[in-house]
Amino acid sequence: MKQMERESSVRNELAVTGLMKALVYLAPGQMKLEDRPKAALIEPSDAVVKMIKTTICGTDLHIMKGDVPSCSPGRILGHEGVGIVESIGSGVSQFKIGDHVLISCITSCGKCDFCRRQMYSHCTTGGWMLGNTIDGTQAEFVRIPYADNSLYHAPVGVDEEALVMLSDIIPTGFEKGVLNGKVKPGGTVAIVGAGPIGQGVVLTAQFFSPAKIIVIDLDDNRLNVALKLGATDVINNRDGQAVAKVMALTGGLGVDTAIEAVGMAASFETCQAIIGVGGVIANIGVHGEKVDLELNRLWDRNISITTGLVDTESTRMLLSIVKSGKIDPSLLVTHHFKLADIVSAYETFGQASKTHALKVIIEA
Ligand SMILES: [Zn+2]
Ligand SMILES: [Zn+2]
Repeated sequence: MKQMERESSVRNELAVTGLMKALVYLAPGQMKLEDRPKAALIEPSDAVVKMIKTTICGTDLHIMKGDVPSCSPGRILGHEGVGIVESIGSGVSQFKIGDHVLISCITSCGKCDFCRRQMYSHCTTGGWMLGNTIDGTQAEFVRIPYADNSLYHAPVGVDEEALVMLSDIIPTGFEKGVLNGKVKPGGTVAIVGAGPIGQGVVLTAQFFSPAKIIVIDLDDNRLNVALKLGATDVINNRDGQAVAKVMALTGGLGVDTAIEAVGMAASFETCQAIIGVGGVIANIGVHGEKVDLELNRLWDRNISITTGLVDTESTRMLLSIVKSGKIDPSLLVTHHFKLADIVSAYETFGQASKTHALKVIIEA
């Protein structure tokens, strides 16, 4: 039976057994908190998780703008969160009912060729599914396919809001920014964009003790947060002088690592203008438009450019680090809402320059 038919037959069955509240994407610019059939097991490798806390990602705003064609109207949004295992399929061996779990934004079978290469985001039957091609976490319950590989045991005693940051933004900043960008002791790092992902880079770049962490943005509030999280220098580019200022800070050399954490042509161009000889430009941002590559200036500078969607291969390690108290991702949380008020949470998160929102926590 096709997945969609199977899902809808399960929905029909469940219409009698219970409903749940869920935030549903209806059309570009339109969403609604609706009553939906409670999430249920479909495959033996599934688990159903009762959500405790979830959040809204910049990617959800892209969906709401209609920028993500893979996400069709009617989809429950959300790909981050923590919860409690409510039920498990017969094939799940690593989790039991009642376990506290962190949900990974990436669903992975653990067995296909890409999974064997730790490129879980390219899992041939998984990847970024939650709140995209299957119903997501902004609901009272969520079905998690390949639960053994896509859930993590929540360490005892760790703040749940800190854990929510490990579903997506901290692994994304660390893997696609810090690791891809080869941040090294004594090196210089520039992060273009001080949103949640950029702040995740600020936190995790410090694992490698770079000499400088320079953060560029247009919002003073976000730059102040970056300073609190460990940035050594911040630059407000409202005057368009960021490139000159980075050059001044690096003795005219440019940086060893330039991390693009916005997803716009202008921010990638800034990275190309500030990258030093032998450096790495690590792109994290989601780009909707084409960007010019200035090979005429870069061809002889021994640089590399990296791209990628988070694979979450670092999640286990990041859980240990957060448990040890070395970093506190809960510092990124600025607002709290109940699931009943999630539409206001979207408004607050969507107007970040006015509301100073970074991450909003939504309690199911
Ligand atoms: Zn996300
Ligand atoms: Zn796979």
